[in-house]
Order: sequence, then C-alpha cells, then structure tokens
Amino acid sequence: MDQAAPAAGAVPPGLDRLLDDVDAAQQELAELLAALVRFPTVNFGAGHPGRDAVPNGNETPCASYLRDRLLAEGVPAAVHESAPSRGNLIARLSAAGRPQWPPDRPLSSPSLLFMAHLDVVPVEDPERWPYPPFEGRIANGLVHGRGSHDAKSLAACEALVLLLLRRRGVRLGGDLAFLATADEESGGRFGAGWLATHPALAPQVRADVALNEGGGGAVRSPAGLSYGFATGEKGRLEVHIRVAGKSGHASGPWRAENALERAGIVLERLRSYRPLLDTSHPLFATLPERFGLPARLTPETLPGAIEWLQGDHEAVADAMRAASRLTLVPTMLHAGIKSNSIPAACTVICDSRTLPHQDAAYVRGELAGLLGDLPWVEVEVETTAVSNASPYDHPFRETCQRALRLATGRDDVNLVPALCAGFTDSRFLRPLGVAVYDFMPLHPTAEARDTGVHGTNERIEIEGLVARARFLMAAACLHLGAG
Ligand SMILES: [Zn+2]
Repeated sequence: MDQAAPAAGAVPPGLDRLLDDVDAAQQELAELLAALVRFPTVNFGAGHPGRDAVPNGNETPCASYLRDRLLAEGVPAAVHESAPSRGNLIARLSAAGRPQWPPDRPLSSPSLLFMAHLDVVPVEDPERWPYPPFEGRIANGLVHGRGSHDAKSLAACEALVLLLLRRRGVRLGGDLAFLATADEESGGRFGAGWLATHPALAPQVRADVALNEGGGGAVRSPAGLSYGFATGEKGRLEVHIRVAGKSGHASGPWRAENALERAGIVLERLRSYRPLLDTSHPLFATLPERFGLPARLTPETLPGAIEWLQGDHEAVADAMRAASRLTLVPTMLHAGIKSNSIPAACTVICDSRTLPHQDAAYVRGELAGLLGDLPWVEVEVETTAVSNASPYDHPFRETCQRALRLATGRDDVNLVPALCAGFTDSRFLRPLGVAVYDFMPLHPTAEARDTGVHGTNERIEIEGLVARARFLMAAACLHLGAG
C-alpha cells in the first residue's frame, strides 16, 4: 500500500477488510487473552501482610510476553519497569512518513492511545471457580480466569488491532500508541501514575485522545441501544471517623462509655444521610429523551424518574443515582480487644465517592453537618483519587459513535454520556492534556451480565471480545485515517 493515507474522518476504504480480519482472528484473540490470563499478575496492594514471597503484581513477565508478540511482527514495543518486576508496556504504530519508534519521538497529532492494565485483583476462594483462575481456559465461547475481563481483555483486543494493522501494512495518518500498565488495581503508583510524571515516557503516551476501561455498557431503551460513553470518574476518599469512649469492665457498663455504642449513633446518622442531588452532568440532559422522560432532569424531578426507571431499566437508574450524588458508605469497623472489656475507642471507616466539583473540603463540610454536634467524634478525610473528566462535547465522541455503528452494523446504537463510579488510570492521563474516554464496548447482547469482575468466576464472551476489537479497529482508522 503506497498511496497517501486519507484524511481522518472519512471512512477509510480498507476498513471493511480490516473488520473482516478481526472476525477471522477470533480464535487468535481468545488464545492471546488466555495466554495473558496465565500470568498471575496479582496485585495485593501496598503493605499486604504475608505476601513478601510473591512479588506484588509481577507484571513484567506478562508485559514482556506482549512486547515479544508485537516485536515478532514488527510492531515497536518496550517494557519499562517502575520498580523490579513492575513492568509497563508501551507500543506504537507510527503514522506513515513519520520516523518509526524507537527512537523516542513524542506522539504527534493526530494520535490515539489504547489503554489497558495488566495487574489483577486477588482470588478469594479458587475452589469456587469452575476452572483454576489462572489456567486461561477457553470453553463454551468464553475465556475464563482472573483478568479475562478486567482488564486483560482490553490489552488482548488492543494488541490484536495493532498486529492486524501491521500485517496489512496499513499506512496510518497518525500515531497509534498502546499502553498496558502495572499497578492499576492498587493506585497506579508503579504504573500510569509513574509514567505520567516520567520525563521521557510521558510524551510517549500523551496522545490527543485515549480509550480506556470503565464505560461501554449497553442499555436498551425505547429509542434503540445506548452505550455509556464515560467522560470522567467520580473521586474517591477514605474517611476515618474516630469515636472516643471510656474503657471499663463489661460487667459494669455504667462506669464506662462504650465507644461501640457511640459508633452506633454515627452509623445511624450515616444511614440517614441525604446528599444534595446534582443534575449538572450531561447524562441528565441526554438520557431522558431516550426513555421518554422530561427533557432535562432536575434535582426535583430526578427521584421520580429514578423510581420510574427502576423496574425495566435498573442499570440506567443506578447510573443516574451514582452521577447525581456524593456517597458516604461505612465499610469497616475497628473496636475492642476482648469480649469482656468495654472499648474506649472505635473507628468507623467509610468509602466516599465524589462528583467532579466536590473535593475533600466539601466532604468534611458534609460530615461536620452530620456529626458536628458529637464532641467525642474526630474525622479524618484522605483523598485517594480526585474526580476528573474530559469534555463530553469533543469530536472524538462522534468518531466513536460512527466506529461503533460500523463495528456492530447497527444504526440504532447511540452513545450517551456516563460517569464512572470507580476510578481508573485515566485520571493520570487527563492532567497531561489527553482527552480520555472510558469506553470499551462489548457486543450489543452482552447487556448487564454478571462477569465475575473482582469476584468469582471472571469470564468474557469471545463474541464480545471480537465486537470490541472491531470497534477499536474502526475508531483507530476513523480518527487517524488509514490507507
Ligand atoms: Zn480494571
């Protein structure tokens, strides 16, 4: 192929053939994913006791395997370790006419970054899995195992797209980069957080736009199929509420102040907390018309709308709940040393998720309103992740919608704005100026199924993987232009 790459935006003439290539590579895709699952890249988190014998994460062998698969077919790729065994993979297909990489040329416009992470969460009870969690079993149209969905499925689809483009010798009109990180599951300090501040590596992932995990679920509405296009993420804070009391022998409770009983008052207040409703996220302007609701939802009309949606469209009701409020949820309780001693102290630990404009000071204010009159309470708020977002009104959204229609062959699919309730590596890339969209769609029929992510029997449908790889192929060709 020696003609100049067509401009971005037009449907590249070779795209149909590339989408056929994805379909034909179905088995290869499933096997690539299964191979990644076989690396037990378990991230126990910092300071996890008793795990010293196992390197935490140990992503380097998995990242190196992917690198070698890419290098074997001429896709430049390298593994960068943030610490021993914490490997991060960066690969790139450079635009036609631009110097190939390496050497370390920064990405230049237009550019697109595919993101994934290679670490996985631990397995609680392997006995309850139908197949050993790290066997990478392919059975009944599914790939099974820890990480098969979150997020090695992304890495496999993304790597496949690079390989297929390379095999066809496609001349891209821009740079296509691929990042598979370490340590996403426990804060990204050895992964995206490290890369984003690395002077030599950050320019290699600083693309115009990026696609990452976190969104892409499909919901059926009277107006067709809607895919959640997540433009941002809620923030996450950890709240420690220390309750003071006075110790004593449990046989004479009247001589003590039981911190556990006082904590009961705190828990009751938390349960009755009613956050202010906020309908400023674009999803409240876009989703209603797809479900025949009033044109724009307000804090006053929202509860009724959620109740109405609850029956047939539970996932939408949930998304509206999450995007409209701060949450403050007690998750841990520490108190007591012995069953016959009244505890003098109790700590209630809460998980709090914030909307884009709510910071630690806002959460402290809410807690002061809730618990401020209790003199024996002390509150500490620590930020894990700041809420962050990329613009919803961005030309890449239209590109993704077109790509999804091409990939699914359906004209009734639409993107609707979404906000991730959790946080991902996207939060490290957005401050670099990358417009990151948490959007990894699966097959239209893969609606609201239990996938075992972070739980038991994690798995993914091969049909869904193929659909996602088709979308990524179309998005890359439409955004960058391909000839
Ligand atoms: Zn993940």
